[in-house]
Amino acid sequence: MVLSAAQHINKTIDVPLLDAHGYVLSQDVLSTIDVPPADNSAMDGYALRASDAEQTLPVSQRIPAGTVGSPLEEACAARIFTGAAIPAGANAVVMQENCTEIAGKVSVSGPVITGQNIRYRGQDIKSGDIVLAKGRILRPQDMGMLASIGCARAKVYRPLRVAVLSTGDELFEPGSGALPDGGIYNSNRYTLAGLVRSLHMEFVDCGMVVDDADATAQALRNASELADCVITTGGVSVGEEDHVKAQVQRLGRLDLWKLAIKPGKPLAFGSIGNTSFIGLPGNPTSVFVTFCLIARPFLLKMQGVAEPESPRLQAVAAFSVSKPGGRQDYLRVIVENTSQGLLAKKFSNQSSGVLSSVSYSNALAVIPPGAVVSEGDTLEIILLDSVAG
Ligand code: AMP
Ligand code: MG
Repeated sequence: MVLSAAQHINKTIDVPLLDAHGYVLSQDVLSTIDVPPADNSAMDGYALRASDAEQTLPVSQRIPAGTVGSPLEEACAARIFTGAAIPAGANAVVMQENCTEIAGKVSVSGPVITGQNIRYRGQDIKSGDIVLAKGRILRPQDMGMLASIGCARAKVYRPLRVAVLSTGDELFEPGSGALPDGGIYNSNRYTLAGLVRSLHMEFVDCGMVVDDADATAQALRNASELADCVITTGGVSVGEEDHVKAQVQRLGRLDLWKLAIKPGKPLAFGSIGNTSFIGLPGNPTSVFVTFCLIARPFLLKMQGVAEPESPRLQAVAAFSVSKPGGRQDYLRVIVENTSQGLLAKKFSNQSSGVLSSVSYSNALAVIPPGAVVSEGDTLEIILLDSVAG
């Protein structure tokens, strides 16, 4: 439901290719050239006609990369280097380790097959190919590929603006001095700064707000004017100090509240004016998990990403779950690669207040509601690297 409510922002900008990492393509990119642009040598060696390979051949020319040779003379070989264009007439390259050149003549050992060690024109990309489709997040290798077809700039969606607001009277900023009694440091703001920025979106820092109805309303209104989506932490549960939900209902709309998941039950979703709203729980682990599971694909879809959900893998449980739960549980696990495949070990403390459970684990294991798990069962897992850069 959350994903289907995501409205794509559809605002485009043009960025230099060198700065394009992490942006999302707003249009298909077509190649107007073949890559490689010409047949060229995959080796340092000699270019020749395969049918001449049993003879000793005069070396009639030398073709370093970046130069163009002349058509290969009859019954001759050309000295050639990796990346240099194959001269017309030649149909094979023999690597220099298999050649002996004496006094300007080369002889070749071993069989020579037509086409060997030639990288043919267009074998990578053909003129007219769509090399990358709209909705693609540009990865480093994609930047290289765009450069290889001569693109200097990329047309992309402007980065989504994501406002982050932390609620709670108990919160203090790290760096603001020693904690007073009853205080804790605001960790959610930092987790979310990293998560938002790892999606190459703009982190709009709205700081903290105290547990007060009017102050919460004011902070929500302000955040909604600055961003495409407002994300809050805390204050969405059932206590009378939890003001976020009521104030979102006052200013805008609430479409969903409470999910049968663990951690992360009190999640809220709605909008304030044209700005989307996601109310994450307060507990630091719940914040991390619900952002990765729910906010992340939602934001990516708003950003225009064609495939906002990351793939899941399977691992074998090295633990058991004997009591079936009523909610879908996302256990923090440490996945190891063993000769039997991926093995998931459960992190000892699964409390949603224990942020070390996500720092010290590398995956979430999905335990469906009502499921019991025995050691050796296969579980679905979500690698944290695939959802939190
Ligand atoms: P709440 O939903 O507001 O009752 O918060 C649930 C729990 O998460 C409480 O223990 C809060 O102290 C804690 N919490 C809320 N916000 C933060 C934050 N920004 N950083 C660290 N812990 C928080
Ligand atoms: Mg609170």
